[in-house]
Amino acid sequence: MQLKGVNKRYDAPGEQKVTVLQDIDITISEGEFVAILGPSGSGKSTLLRIIAGLVKASSGTVTYLGQPVVDANPGVSMVFQSFALFPWLTVLENVELGLRYHDLSSQEKHNRALSVIDMVGLDGFEGAYPKELSGGMRQRVGIGRALVMEPDILLMDEPFSALDVLTAENLRRDLLELWLERKIPTKSIIMVTHGIEEAVYMADRAVVLSRDPATVIADIKIPLPHWRERKDEAFTRLVDRIYSILTRTREMQEAILPTQHGQTRKYITLPQVPSGALTGFLELLDDLAIKSDLYKLADELMFELDDLLPIVEAAQLLGFATVSQGDISLTEFGKQFAAASVLERKELFRTQLKHHLPIFERIRWVLDSKRNRKMPREFFLEVIRKSVGTEAAEDQLDTIIDWGRYSELFAYDESSRVLYLEDEDPEEEAH
Ligand code: ADP
Ligand code: MG
Repeated sequence: MQLKGVNKRYDAPGEQKVTVLQDIDITISEGEFVAILGPSGSGKSTLLRIIAGLVKASSGTVTYLGQPVVDANPGVSMVFQSFALFPWLTVLENVELGLRYHDLSSQEKHNRALSVIDMVGLDGFEGAYPKELSGGMRQRVGIGRALVMEPDILLMDEPFSALDVLTAENLRRDLLELWLERKIPTKSIIMVTHGIEEAVYMADRAVVLSRDPATVIADIKIPLPHWRERKDEAFTRLVDRIYSILTRTREMQEAILPTQHGQTRKYITLPQVPSGALTGFLELLDDLAIKSDLYKLADELMFELDDLLPIVEAAQLLGFATVSQGDISLTEFGKQFAAASVLERKELFRTQLKHHLPIFERIRWVLDSKRNRKMPREFFLEVIRKSVGTEAAEDQLDTIIDWGRYSELFAYDESSRVLYLEDEDPEEEAH
């Protein structure tokens, strides 16, 4: 499977198009299990849909066995995060559905479905309906439906992220066993994930994407023999390395933003982190030590490493912390913040928002310019939508409002959905 110079742009309302994927070159060979990693919203699902032929690239070439992929790619089948089962069909019928376009007798379809059901551990549940099954069993059906087609390439889009920790682990092992012991004829697996550990546990190779737009920023071999132990040093070293790459992206992207006055600066996508979680995290870092290994920190907090990523990203983005080689430490500014009083913190936070994120200056400017110092949420939504697309804009604005309210840069009234400036203006006091 080969992607060369693949670009994907989506139309956004307004004059701008949003570039989601940029110059993607990836080749996947027979025998490989490749994980595609990247922050959420980076374009991983889009990339997978392009490979499956469900979405067209805007430019570049996508070939499978040397042939351009123009329609649904016949060599692949897909497992979805949301399982995507038909609730009115039984397990057997859902799995058989994978074969609906195959030229087989109904008896053959039936037999193939039964043997796959057996293989994915659903023996005895052939006649059950999805609602009778746990999440883990539903995903087994999803995997069964994909495998029954005997695809050359199995595509999986965050297949385990909707499951609880134990179920996910159980399913990872079972799938890996099918793959490693060649119980399935599948020749390659491409798995999209935002889980670094998951990638290092399962895959032979990790392709790491940046965001806004997604480019390939690293392509890393994972040469560890199976079965892998998460506590092994070689394992944690690889996780740390990928972690550093993912957190470094942000700095690189900021560095290339034009900063001169007068030029419009690009909208910087915010990690979805409530201000309270961020301040709590900074306090914790301050209490702990000078430097902390992120991997250990996640472990001690009983966090998935990936849940920590957005918080770390927010701390970096606002200049409160830096990450190098998997270790996080507070900056001078971060230390000052952790030690400050509640009011001082708000002021420090305000300074950082205005300094690092142009959108906050812009909102202030708009509100300041209005005689009634009010503006509907909808107005700013439109502004953000142009940069990040409709889907992400609401979440972005929620975070902006949360950070803005916390820092008292502006206020927000939920019932009228209006952003406004209060009469007592903290900015004026500061002057
Ligand atoms: P990921 O799977 O990495 O979370 P996606 O591929 O789902 O990311 O989305 C990447 C970006 O493309 C997001 O900003 C999303 O809003 C945008 N996007 C995805 N599909 C569409 C679409 N059909 N129209 C416009 N924008 C889209
Ligand atoms: Mg996705």
